Amino acid sequence: MQSKGIVLHGGKQLEMVTAELQSPAGSQVLVRTHAVGLCGSDSGLYLGTYEGPRNYPLYFGHEWSGTVVSVGPDVTRFRQGDKVTGDCSLYCGTCQFCGRDKNLCQHIEKFGITVDGASRQLFLQEERYLYRADPGADLDLVALSEPLAVGAHAARRVREARPNLAKEKILVLGGGAIGLSCLFALKVLEGCEYVELYDLVEERVAKAVAAGAASPTDVAAAGGDGDAADYGGLYSGRGYDAIFETSGSPAAFRMAVGLLRPLGAVMALGFIPSVEFGLKQITLKAAQIMGSIGGTGEFDRVLEFVAGYPELASQLVSHRVPFDEADRAFALAADRGRSMKVLLQFQGPRAGQARRGAP
Ligand SMILES: [Zn+2]
Ligand SMILES: [Zn+2]
Repeated sequence: MQSKGIVLHGGKQLEMVTAELQSPAGSQVLVRTHAVGLCGSDSGLYLGTYEGPRNYPLYFGHEWSGTVVSVGPDVTRFRQGDKVTGDCSLYCGTCQFCGRDKNLCQHIEKFGITVDGASRQLFLQEERYLYRADPGADLDLVALSEPLAVGAHAARRVREARPNLAKEKILVLGGGAIGLSCLFALKVLEGCEYVELYDLVEERVAKAVAAGAASPTDVAAAGGDGDAADYGGLYSGRGYDAIFETSGSPAAFRMAVGLLRPLGAVMALGFIPSVEFGLKQITLKAAQIMGSIGGTGEFDRVLEFVAGYPELASQLVSHRVPFDEADRAFALAADRGRSMKVLLQFQGPRAGQARRGAP
């Protein structure tokens, strides 16, 4: 079977290739890609600036949806026609870290980053890295599962550290795809009553408020300068118990530390290479800085969210682009002020033309 796809070489070098695919063997599943979401790491892989482990030439695409074409003889959980998505964290399942958080597997490979991903019409994947979506789910939205799962995993980690999280005052910094994913995970999956979202782009705040966030209060008063060290005093009642930093801005992280209430926690999701801040505030407030990586472990509840709240999930999508216009898609994704999630479409009328044109 022939499959057309997009291979990255770094340095904006993007190649359309046609490859021959074998039938699924053993516990493999053959997937027909529907959509691939572009995220910051994909842009880095495209430009050649991605700093973590990666392997060129590379089919990228770790945020995806598709349908099952056929299954290997040992596959038990999937059959032809199932709507599916899958893990970015390809875990071993047996190491000491897999027992605690598979996203930290010591033998981890990352789908679409260290090994070939979904940026092609067809691909083979092991059954254990796949999840079935609701038959009625919109496949465009199923492609959002991975970023939604990243938000869900971060929310779970904070809740596990803070059992009273649902009643606490929470702030999400950054209204991009991961910020919105955190907002939805906190409100819908964790049942948190009060979550503000703040972004320097006002339309993003308005969008979050329309989707259930509270209007930013104390954070807006503190301003965006990051100098909130003495903000309101420790017991002013202002500030936040838990802050999810998703913007990637050092100033935002510094501000988050200043806005923490005593015994508060900052969840750092923004991949900030370095930041200078008053560490003594962490000591004085007996506060916590936490991290979270990956979304494995959350796909089942995220897929329920996608099926149950399509009007919320669709807030993440800003553009849909046929996969044979990938250069344009990456240019759109780079415009972070205006774009949220850009979905590359591997099906549909225009992608279909490209498929018929394949040799
Ligand atoms: Zn991603
Ligand atoms: Zn492992």
